[in-house]
This record gives sequence, C-alpha cells and structure tokens, in this order.
Amino acid sequence: MATHKLLLLPGDGIGTEVMAQVKRVLAFLEQQGLASFAIEEDLVGGAAYDQCGLPISEEAMKRAFAADAILLGAVGGPKWANVPYEARPEAGLLRLRKDLQLFANLRPALCYPALADASSLKRELVEGLDILIVRELTGGVYFGEPKTITDLADGQKRGVDTQVYESYEIERIARVAFELARTRRNRVVSAEKHNVMKTGVLWKQVVSEVHGADYADVSLEHQLADSCAMQLVRAPKQFDVLVTDNLFGDILSDVAAMLTGSLGMLPSASLGAVEELTGKRRALYEPVHGAAPDIAGKGLANPIAMIGSLAMALRYSFGQGDVADRIEKAIAGVLAKGYRTNDIKSEGATVVGTEGMGDAVLAELAIG
Ligand code: NAD
Repeated sequence: MATHKLLLLPGDGIGTEVMAQVKRVLAFLEQQGLASFAIEEDLVGGAAYDQCGLPISEEAMKRAFAADAILLGAVGGPKWANVPYEARPEAGLLRLRKDLQLFANLRPALCYPALADASSLKRELVEGLDILIVRELTGGVYFGEPKTITDLADGQKRGVDTQVYESYEIERIARVAFELARTRRNRVVSAEKHNVMKTGVLWKQVVSEVHGADYADVSLEHQLADSCAMQLVRAPKQFDVLVTDNLFGDILSDVAAMLTGSLGMLPSASLGAVEELTGKRRALYEPVHGAAPDIAGKGLANPIAMIGSLAMALRYSFGQGDVADRIEKAIAGVLAKGYRTNDIKSEGATVVGTEGMGDAVLAELAIG
C-alpha cells in the first residue's frame, strides 16, 4: 500500500481542536490497515507568528511543497488583530494557496438526510443534495490589474477592479470540472455572464471548446450566473458539478453552503495542476469555517468539516475513494443516530462536544 505524505497544519482556535479528532481518525485508518501515512506537523497563522514572527515559516513552506497533501485547520483570532498586515494569520493561508498555485477550489454542498431540517429550504428540496462547486481561485477580478481608487478633478473618487481571464486559466479549471463530473453524475453547469461581460464570452467559448474536444461524454449546460443563483435556491438538486470564476464562485458556493445547514459541516479542497514528473497534484484540504474564537478552547467545535476534509484528501489526492466513502458513511451514520454538536443541535438529539463527536465517528467507522 502506498504511504501518503501528509502535512498537518492545525493553525489557531478551534483548528487545533478539530485537527485532534482527525489525528484519531488517521490512527484508526492505519491500525486497521486501511491507509498508510507519513505525517508531519507544523504551525500556520497566529501560532506560527507567535513562534517566528511570520504567518508561516520557510521550513513549513518546504514541508508543504514536499507533501502529497496538506490538511489545514483554521487561522486567525483577536489575539493577532494588531500584528503587521503582511504577518496577519490569514497571510499564511494565502501564501500557501499562491505559492502552491492552487487554482481550483472544490466545495461540496452535501445535505445529510438527518440534517435536512436545518436548511433554510424545505426538506424535499435539499434532502440528499450533493453538489460540487468548482471555483477558479487564482484569477479574475480579485487579482486583475489595475485595482485602484483614484481622486478625480471634481473631488469625486473612482474605484476600479479589473476582471481578467486568459484562456489557459479557463481551460484548466474546465478540465478539473469535467474530470470530476466523470467520477460523479457526469453533468457540468458552467456559470458566467456572457450577456454583459467579455470575460464571460471567453469563458463560455473556452469551456465549450474543451468540452467538444475531450469531454463530449459529459453533459454540459451554460447558465448565466444570476439565473444560476436563482436555480440554486429554486431546485438545487438539478446540479452535479458547477464550474465558475473566482467572484461568482465565491458567492454561489456560499449560497450552496447555506442549503446544507452549518459551517461546521463543510469541507473544501484547493488543487493545483498535475505535475508532469510525478503525476501528482498539489492539494490543500480545509474546513470552510474559521478559527471560531467565540467557542475556541471550550471543546464545543464540530469536527465533521475537518474530518470530511480528510475524506476529500483520500478521494482526490490519495486515490482511496473507498476509504473516503467509509468516512462519509460514518458521518451520515452518526447524524442518523442523533449525535449533534451545538451548532447543529435539534430537539431530541444527543448533544456532544468535539471529542464526543470524534468518539461517535470512530465508533461508527469501526462498524464499517
Ligand atoms: P468562523 O467560521 O470562525 O465562525 C463563524 C461562526 O460559526 C462562529 O459563531 C463560530 O462559533 C461558528 N463555527 C464555525 N465553525 C464551527 C464549528 N466547526 N463548530 C461549531 N461552530 C462553528 O468565522 P469568523 O467568526 O468570521 O472568523 C473568526 C476568525 O477566523 C477570524 O480571525 C477570521 O479571519 C478567521 N477565518 C479563518 C478562515 C480560515 O482559516 N480558512 C476562514 C474564515 C475565517
């Protein structure tokens, strides 16, 4: 069995608490002979700043480059509110994404049947929902130049952001979406605004070309991003894989997230290009939530998003979809049995803390 090189970066606040539960799952998988890991651990965010004055050390960056996958908890907290801007905790995460060129952000929106009532939509609309949003993460209007605020002669000001995409950026994210669709229900919706934006015209054209050339077996539909937002809340189960740019992806993935209940349930992945030499992709897996200073240190955090991030690493970096399925089945089982952390509690539930939820997941994993 291949040994996976895994770098753990627990970070700050509840990041360390939820990562502790992932370590227990990793130990279980090894003991059962289900997977083999070479695990390293380092600091990121405020914890790294306290140790070396940087939000991530050069040593940790080297480890990140050498790893097959990185699991990150969360960064940030009021303790570091006044550190210099370049050294703020979030800069550690941004450096990882930038230096490792993680251009594809994958955010699954999965609604476990046991949690369907926690959604703001009706149960029948969201029960069994399983969408994968593929967001372009390193281009578009968040990075395009010029990006300025200038003073005008008449005393007004002008703010400018620039939406820029080159065809290679669209092509590589489209390929990620089509490849993933083939492992799921074989459907891709691509969202842009070709009716009012030139980048939208190019986006639609390149996605169509990639589809025609290499992925004609996958069904492709183009939707305008505003109409797509409406469809996401009208009939979300029509979606399988949704691919879109950085800005629309930011918004649409938050909409999809809220269909499923709590922040504490949502994992994510950020992937780079496949390297020619090794055939591997750089990859970082993390919960969508932050360091939650309001509950940090209290043993209340929901570890499911973090454990789900490990399942994504097994599926997308380690080729062990069967073990990922087993973890996700264990999570569904725990929820079906009524175990809940505070953030997802409902009437009649057995309310547990972070470790209690870890215990429940491990017990369910052991059943198989
Ligand atoms: P947050 O996600 O940390 O918390 C938002 C709310 O959700 C809080 O009430 C929190 O208690 C709750 N929550 C989040 N995760 C939970 C979990 N696993 N279990 C139970 N409840 C959970 O967002 P925020 O409060 O806006 O930010 C707090 C800090 O985290 C800030 O410093 C922010 O910059 C940082 N942050 C980091 C990341 C990251 O590391 N990727 C993402 C978002 C925010």
